[in-house]
Amino acid sequence: MRIYEYAKKRKVSSKEILEVLEGGGFDFASHMAMLTPEAMEFLEKGEKEKRGEPEKKKPVQKQALEKKIKKEEKVEEKEVAKKLVIRPMVLSDAAQEMGQPVTAVILVLLKWGIVANINQVLAEDVVQRLAEYFEVEFEAALEKKRVETFEKKAVVEGKELQERLPVVVVMGHVDHGKTTLLDFIRRTRVASRERGGITQHLGAYEVEVPGKGRIVFLDTPGHEAFSKIRMRGSRVADIAVLVVAADDGIMPQTVEAINHAKFMGLPIVVAINKIDKASSSQIEAVKQQLVRHELLPEDWGGDVVCVPISAKLGQGIDHLLEMILLQSQIMELKADTGIAAQGYVLESKLEKGRGPVATLICQHGVAKIGDFFICGDTQGRISSFVDSFGRRVKFVEPSVPVLVAGFDELPEAGDFFEVVSQQEYKKSRTGRREKGPTSPKMLVVGTEKDINIIVKTDSDSSKEALLWAIEKLSKKLEKGSVGKRFKIIHAAVGDVSESDIDLAAISGALLVGLHVKLEAKASLLAQRLSVKIKLYDIIYKLVEYLEEYAATKKEIKKEKVKVGEAVVLRVFNIKKIGVIAGCLVKDGRFSKDGSVVIYRDNKKIGEGKIRSLQREKKVVKEVHSGFECGFLVDGFDAWEVDDRVECYLEVAEKK
Ligand code: GDP
Repeated sequence: MRIYEYAKKRKVSSKEILEVLEGGGFDFASHMAMLTPEAMEFLEKGEKEKRGEPEKKKPVQKQALEKKIKKEEKVEEKEVAKKLVIRPMVLSDAAQEMGQPVTAVILVLLKWGIVANINQVLAEDVVQRLAEYFEVEFEAALEKKRVETFEKKAVVEGKELQERLPVVVVMGHVDHGKTTLLDFIRRTRVASRERGGITQHLGAYEVEVPGKGRIVFLDTPGHEAFSKIRMRGSRVADIAVLVVAADDGIMPQTVEAINHAKFMGLPIVVAINKIDKASSSQIEAVKQQLVRHELLPEDWGGDVVCVPISAKLGQGIDHLLEMILLQSQIMELKADTGIAAQGYVLESKLEKGRGPVATLICQHGVAKIGDFFICGDTQGRISSFVDSFGRRVKFVEPSVPVLVAGFDELPEAGDFFEVVSQQEYKKSRTGRREKGPTSPKMLVVGTEKDINIIVKTDSDSSKEALLWAIEKLSKKLEKGSVGKRFKIIHAAVGDVSESDIDLAAISGALLVGLHVKLEAKASLLAQRLSVKIKLYDIIYKLVEYLEEYAATKKEIKKEKVKVGEAVVLRVFNIKKIGVIAGCLVKDGRFSKDGSVVIYRDNKKIGEGKIRSLQREKKVVKEVHSGFECGFLVDGFDAWEVDDRVECYLEVAEKK
């Protein structure tokens, strides 16, 4: 095929093809020239990469290119440009400004997985990465811009709602590729070496999707901190990525993960993994299985995004990242940067030379070096921040994970962190700080009628039998004097694992097992989280126990438990309806079944029951931390902006 014929086929100009070929080290006289097999392969490979298909073998043309660059480097000894201003740039201009041959730039970009021709416009961050790679001095317009906006935000007084990054947790069955996926993303996206840092293992890291946005990944699936945070009714993650190996399909822990995510109200993006060794019918089979768990894939008319990927080869991962960003845009994640910084500790450790340090993710506010804080049972003053790129930063925006130094003592994973005044810090230090409203006891529960239960069995048939028996018992109890019913939070085949305990703890569920064992680690966790577990080998004994258990629940006293806190941002007086408090939930959650207590200047000024909880004009059951909502309260309408509102739920008293 001649070059112009090829160009026509690809619907581009012959000139462009000639330039790409030149970039690949091929020298053709004109567009009439015949393509050699090597040149053809080079072009086809470029096309495939554009389409996101994997590289099949080590390309011949790369070697040719490397040879050519070496030759050119000897001949051309260009002067390195002075301070380069980072901006979007055409590749050839960027090469010239950096004093590099075009081919060298193309090659480096290829190494990073970016296929670009000489006329391609490179995004700002790519130009900056190139400048760092070629050690060209530059003015970091990008970095500066970011710093300036946040410094400005940080000094603005009052409420300042700002978009924040999505925080993603990766879940799924063991060996389905969670670690491989997280490693691949970290390796290819964080690129810390080019940024002059060393990747920090913080338990979470931030990645950039050039031109599209940033995402934070929690890199320890099933982290202990999460259950602690969840037990307070709050959460750190916004989106769950469910990894399902296409060759294995949905397995017990996949189901657990789905139930976990649903329970926490996290939207799920499904990554169907290992497609490099699975057939397309296996991929379809996974989608079918998802439907059985009430996750209807998009291409079947549902709203669950399924992305086929190979975590090992990197196939489909860009698409996955884009889908995560899309999901987060729909969620409109916001943080209030006008209030004192607050967040949670993910991990903590003692570090030589720096003392106790902790990984922190803030949910609101901008924390700065020099800020005083209280965290769990300790306190301190922030002396340094290191981000997941290994860079030292002066302040940290919400959602971004950082390593914080400056603690008086080692905090615990899951501890609540809050920036406070110097006075409060001192009080805390001398142990005189009263237990304030920031460390509430929080629980997540179902409705009053429900007794949450988790069921584990040795086989599918015994699971079905037990579920049927529980359902029958439930009906009897509901109609009878007990007036309760069992709500199955999760039912699966297998021994009782840590993750079951975790779910039982956050949902306040009773855990029952038929013909199963308790894993050793799970036993320890159950003790620590005081989860009640009953294991039986005979089904009717188990059912008998459940009946007794339900009867004891009947007389249980109720207590009010604080589940959330919000601040009033706006007040709407709507004729015929009433006065609506437009709030931002700052911690925990607000539930339609809840009652509220209203405070102004730290004085209680009213209380009542929530009527009609809404979010974005839709009636909802719950609104979680970080989101705005509006509601009416029976018996109170004298709302003012800045009023503080606490939400309470009646739950069974813990024995
Ligand atoms: P985890 O237990 O979910 O964290 O799973 P790992 O990430 O440890 O992966 C389990 C095994 O599957 C490892 O041997 C991986 O190399 C392999 N694996 C993960 N992703 C892929 C993939 O996309 N393709 C293939 N062929 N193997 C994979």
